[in-house]
Amino acid sequence: MSEDAFQALTALVAAGDVVVLSGAGLSTESGIPDYRGPSGAARRHTPMTYQAFTRDPEARRRYWARSHLGWRTIAGAVPNDGHRAVARLQRAGLLGGVITQNVDGLHTAAGASGVIELHGRLDEVTCLDCGNATGREELHRRLDEANPGFDAAVAHVNPDGDVDLPDEAVSGFRTVDCAVCGAGMLKPDVVFFGETVPAARVADCFALVERARALLVLGSSLTVMSGRRFVLRAAKHGIPVGIVNQGATRGDGYAALRLDAPLGATLTAVAARLAAPAPAPV
Ligand SMILES: [Zn+2]
Repeated sequence: MSEDAFQALTALVAAGDVVVLSGAGLSTESGIPDYRGPSGAARRHTPMTYQAFTRDPEARRRYWARSHLGWRTIAGAVPNDGHRAVARLQRAGLLGGVITQNVDGLHTAAGASGVIELHGRLDEVTCLDCGNATGREELHRRLDEANPGFDAAVAHVNPDGDVDLPDEAVSGFRTVDCAVCGAGMLKPDVVFFGETVPAARVADCFALVERARALLVLGSSLTVMSGRRFVLRAAKHGIPVGIVNQGATRGDGYAALRLDAPLGATLTAVAARLAAPAPAPV
């Protein structure tokens, strides 16, 4: 990271009213691997689509088997220096909002408030028939009970909580239905591929971005339009875009400022310049 780029980033944040847009790269230091590592090597993971999940019982069964294993990693993850620095900058009054593409809840766990979770949260589950919402821990317990002894060595957990496993490893897995209405299909509260983000949530994000003095992208390759559209909107309104990400992004052409640097160390250094230290634990 060049000193000039770091100074420019610090100045961008120091001016305030910055809206953060974060992606999977912010959570890699919490042990949740990105879809694409700093090496740029794309994983083979094909995300579950909404259509396959809702129409194909076999796809749904395989999804829940893999996600059941992946949940242990997501549930055990704790915020890292990058999440803590964002919360610290927010407490210092420098942020106009935080939008995340991550479904791991780690911004909020780090103390950030009012986070817009663009793609939902993995720790909540909804019945598609009766709408009943339950916590993922409760579903995890029920799936454990329905599948005694089910286990598989997981080599790679994806940011959406899905894992890479051959189909044979998950054969025989038993799903469970909604405990309230008895037969409803359960789905994690995350936006699958092929599913649209609720319109009101997108509108809230556009409003935040348009009011911002700058948009700061943290740890996203901006591969999907779901996040990239906010960069395009900022650019259209002449709002400067800063990007801190390891590896190239599809928003680089719109960025006034581009840092290819580790998120935790970079953001901690920015927060150290601009914000008071976090309150000591009581
Ligand atoms: Zn139900």
